[in-house]
Amino acid sequence: MKKLIIGNWKMNLGLKGSLALARALKGLKSKNEVGVCPSDFALAGVKAVLGKSQIKLGAQNCFWEASGAYTGQTSAASLKELGCAYVILGHSELRALGESCRRVNLKAKAALARGLTPVICVGEDWTKYKAGKSRAFVSGQIKRALAGLKLGGKQLVIAYEPLWAIGSGRPLQAEAADATQAFIKSEARKALKQSRAAVAVLYGGSVNAANAKNFLRQGNIDGLLIGGASLKAQEFKKIAETH
Ligand code: PEP
Repeated sequence: MKKLIIGNWKMNLGLKGSLALARALKGLKSKNEVGVCPSDFALAGVKAVLGKSQIKLGAQNCFWEASGAYTGQTSAASLKELGCAYVILGHSELRALGESCRRVNLKAKAALARGLTPVICVGEDWTKYKAGKSRAFVSGQIKRALAGLKLGGKQLVIAYEPLWAIGSGRPLQAEAADATQAFIKSEARKALKQSRAAVAVLYGGSVNAANAKNFLRQGNIDGLLIGGASLKAQEFKKIAETH
């Protein structure tokens, strides 16, 4: 099965930097499905640079209402119009600023209704990890984020990102990630009440070109969500071409 590799550029690049990175990546050829998520202001420009490249476009957030007086928000419909295939929802950096599971749930419903694949981030902090509470915690996040979600034939992506592994240079052991990801897929299918729902589970947290293969060869890791390493063109290409 194709693995899915998504780069999250976060708020690291301006317009010029985003276009330059897109130019450096556009020739990438991979058996994996590959996506990049620039800032909203760069989506149209990056899309134009990528042209017929195999790299798909994603956004880092969206709003749940279709239009109206919502200053500073971007609707799922607008992201679709800009050519996005995915939208990352509930990233831990947004949750740290107050994003709730309830909001993630509303956003996921809006994304699916507009034909975007939601990439819903879940993950426990260090205290919960050390206390052996990772599964109980992510299970709660999944239940709340997926409540009432109707997938139909569409795909849902969940990114398992232990908070302490993000940007720390200390990834979770691949075998441990694999086991938790099998649990996450099963919890997500239960929450969706669809035993065969198309749910892909990505791992995220300090993945680089040197350790990517170790994650991708695990049977329950359907792909990777990459932060820091997605900003370095050669490194991201290597990760994207790993299988
Ligand atoms: C992330 O922030 O989603 C992430 C995985 O970051 P990094 O790859 O830098 O750990």
